[in-house]
Amino acid sequence: MSELEIRQFECLGDNYGFLIHDPQSGETASIDTPDADKIQAEAKAAGWTITQIWNTHHHWDHAGGNEALKAATGARIVGPSYDVDRIPGIDFEVADGDIVELGQHAAKVIFTPGHTRGHICYFLPEAKIAFVGDTLFALGCGRLFEGTPAEMWTSLSRLAELPDETRVYCAHEYTQSNAAFALTVDPDNLDLQAYAEMVGAERARGEATVPTTIGAEKATNPFLRPFDAGIRKQLDMAGADDEDVFAEIRRRKDNF
Ligand SMILES: [Zn+2]
Repeated sequence: MSELEIRQFECLGDNYGFLIHDPQSGETASIDTPDADKIQAEAKAAGWTITQIWNTHHHWDHAGGNEALKAATGARIVGPSYDVDRIPGIDFEVADGDIVELGQHAAKVIFTPGHTRGHICYFLPEAKIAFVGDTLFALGCGRLFEGTPAEMWTSLSRLAELPDETRVYCAHEYTQSNAAFALTVDPDNLDLQAYAEMVGAERARGEATVPTTIGAEKATNPFLRPFDAGIRKQLDMAGADDEDVFAEIRRRKDNF
């Protein structure tokens, strides 16, 4: 099996567009459609033809370019069955546990409600890469627009079970502000301190902080660590349930 190629680029300010290409079959998938023109230009620059669109959720900066990109390329749109009414042009509905194929490469669908009620992620086990939309960010997680803290905590817990070396492609460049917040709830975490310093340097050089890895996030991302004694002490929630600690971290981030 040939190795997948990934092209990552900025869209709409702080969104990332991603194209994944399988040289063997010639297939190319666009993860979401933040900006149809930009995505087309990137595909052209790489010499790739977009054959599929894989949507994570219905927000306009993720599915807003679906119709234009489909009209221009004839790409097949894969999206969550949970949100078929809010995502334009879905040809192939998928739900938790379903497999989506790009050539011989398989991606497993993981249902991750919380940011929206129909959000899904795509995990490619052979390549060990995950496209997580607005569910998990480097040092953060998506806002709870439609779900409860308990739902989001369950969703993030499932992503945390992926192999540590999994490269995580988040849909926004939010890492530097996430790091500033993370340090307020987990100030004594040496891994987090080092991560925050690295992110500051990367951003100063104009570099992307995405992708991250599951292992790095498990060691530093407070939204994956509500069970951590240091965080609980900082929040004065020593005996609380994980989901209550998670909810408190999310509440503080919303007001940060
Ligand atoms: Zn979103």
